[in-house]
Amino acid sequence: MMTNRIENYLEELFPNPVCELNFSNDYECLIAIVLSAQTTDKRVNSITPKIFGKYKTLKELKNASLEDLEAIIRPVGSFRKKAFYVKEISRILDEDYNGKVPTDREKLSKFPGVGRKTINVFLSEFYQMPAIAVDTHVERVSKRLGLASKNDDVLQVEKKLQKKFKKEVWSRRHLQLVLFGRYHCKAIKPNCYDCQLVDICKEKKKNI
Ligand code: SF4
Repeated sequence: MMTNRIENYLEELFPNPVCELNFSNDYECLIAIVLSAQTTDKRVNSITPKIFGKYKTLKELKNASLEDLEAIIRPVGSFRKKAFYVKEISRILDEDYNGKVPTDREKLSKFPGVGRKTINVFLSEFYQMPAIAVDTHVERVSKRLGLASKNDDVLQVEKKLQKKFKKEVWSRRHLQLVLFGRYHCKAIKPNCYDCQLVDICKEKKKNI
């Protein structure tokens, strides 16, 4: 019942949820997601055209100068680590996978900078496979709304959300929870005064 109310509200607020990262093929999608750690999609979108415009193939990207890549990636933070990830992911894809990003979770988890959240976002975004990636927004919102418990780790949150939502809407709910966290139930100053879930929310008293 409570989950139904949350789902209906998410549908009302975000009827057409889409990923806000820009990409035009599988490896651009994976790399954009890796770059999006600890930063905003908007920032990532401001640098990916520079990366993929300058290095047009995986071969060019794997042979890119680390310093040049670092200079382009600098605005999104952790640029040394991320530049290394981009080069290494490109090398592995080119040398071991014929340029095609695998869909196998085990294989994906071997790529540097690619954790469970990245895999879930990639599979769901690029291949429309059902998955619920738990990022900072999804975790915070799920706990505020009682979909998960305060002390749950991200894997426990993911498992609880998988139980509460039907599999066919997992990816959709993930996107909606991200947007809900990004624009409505923000970390600081959430829109509680204008929230229809205020009566079931565990944070409401702090914010109204
Ligand atoms: Fe978020 Fe406030 Fe709504 Fe709770 S009442 S879900 S904290 S916006």
